[in-house]
Amino acid sequence: MTETGKKQGRVFSGARPTGRQHLGNYLGAIKNYVALQDEYKDTIYSIVDIHALTTVETTQNLKQNTYEMALDWLAAGLRPDESIIFIQSHVPEVMELHTFFSMVTPLGKLTDLPTFKEKIRQQPHNVNYGLVGYPVLMAADIALYKAVLVPVGIDQAPHIEFTREVVRSFNYRYKTDVLVEPQMKATQVPKVLGIDGVSKMSKSLNNHIELAATPEETQKRVMQMVTDPQRARRSDPGNPDVCNVFTMHKIFSSAEEVEMINTECRRAGIGCVDCKKIFARNLNDNLAPFRERRAAWAQNPDQVWDVLNDGGKRAKVIAEQTIAEVKEAIGLP
Ligand code: ADP
Repeated sequence: MTETGKKQGRVFSGARPTGRQHLGNYLGAIKNYVALQDEYKDTIYSIVDIHALTTVETTQNLKQNTYEMALDWLAAGLRPDESIIFIQSHVPEVMELHTFFSMVTPLGKLTDLPTFKEKIRQQPHNVNYGLVGYPVLMAADIALYKAVLVPVGIDQAPHIEFTREVVRSFNYRYKTDVLVEPQMKATQVPKVLGIDGVSKMSKSLNNHIELAATPEETQKRVMQMVTDPQRARRSDPGNPDVCNVFTMHKIFSSAEEVEMINTECRRAGIGCVDCKKIFARNLNDNLAPFRERRAAWAQNPDQVWDVLNDGGKRAKVIAEQTIAEVKEAIGLP
């Protein structure tokens, strides 16, 4: 504990600059980024632009996407005076650690990862070397800051486990303890489903709800949400236990409303249209302060870039120190 009552040890997380963030990003990861600022002394959040170069679509509009994402993070409640918020490529030391890590990483382990197999399916014509090394670079991101905790969605669990293994291999190979094995930190909703009610919410599947959308756009998306598939007619009783809208109500609606929907849906007392209208209203109410803060930051883009540039400088100080220790541990002359 520190004098402020916060825990020692660093928190780190990163995400590729994919532009405007969606509810899945928020409920699966960003919510914890914000909350951990009050629990830990050091919180470090990175927009990992080098990772973005592994896929063609995320290579486009890097600057705009970085800016939009930073706006969303700040609007969600990241505080630049407390957290280091920075762009990965501003701290090139991560690429050095990536190279050192690559020497203690069996290739088979990388090609066996479910996330890699999924990428091969998604982009069979662009199975580049960087894609194979993606988890190695991610391990370097985390280890460079000696993070003890990594807030991410459940889809990242294999990568965090992989990071732990790489750190262990490195420390074992060089008989050192300079690097730290991190733990994953999931939210209460570690996998948020898209409006299709089936797949993980994701921009690439276009099943997402953007945090920064207008109330009207948000309402439109909510009305497209798939509910209990067994409930074909308004007069059929529904099952909230299998309904993604109900899952969302539990996060954004009052206890009374959740109770009412739970009861009324089961006896066809409320239809899906009305249920979704209530959710849309509550979601918009919840997002109103976020939208206000976002608009305030957007008044002054230079300030957003200042936050990122300043964060890069602060991150670099830590990174240089770690790299010096790593080189010493390896025994490089
Ligand atoms: P990246 O591939 O760089 O991690 P994403 O936008 O896919 O970028 O994810 C950013 C963060 O949001 C990650 O921590 C990820 O686990 C989390 N996340 C993304 N989509 C979801 C979702 N549908 N449910 C829960 N968490 C999610």
